[in-house]
Amino acid sequence: MPSTKTNTIEQYCSVCKDQFDMEVVKQGSSKGVIWLKCPGCQGYLPYMPEENEETEDSAGGDAANPELALEDLDIENAREYSESDTYEVGEIVHHRSWNDYGKVLSKDELPGNRKTVWVQFLRQGKIQLLEGVE
Ligand SMILES: [Zn+2]
Repeated sequence: MPSTKTNTIEQYCSVCKDQFDMEVVKQGSSKGVIWLKCPGCQGYLPYMPEENEETEDSAGGDAANPELALEDLDIENAREYSESDTYEVGEIVHHRSWNDYGKVLSKDELPGNRKTVWVQFLRQGKIQLLEGVE
């Protein structure tokens, strides 16, 4: 007598927002993901065994983000940006029109010997400004 027992696992479907006895459609060999088919939306979703020891410790969450914070900038020594001045890498500048502080990241040159500096501003982001304009 053939065994018609279907292998099902009860799981919550976030699409249907309901709990179902889902049919196991594909079972990985050893540590593979078990795929379940939702009878509600007919969608496939992975079944995650609960014996997962990995704790979701995402307390740090500090991605490599070059964003500046105001306290990182020595704004007391910031120089007013003027395109006729020249700036050094690491220097803090204040852009009067934007009322924004930034730090000179690097220097660059445009065609025609026009000198520029790349400045990471607090609010405006990374912006290329002219310098040494006569
Ligand atoms: Zn569903």
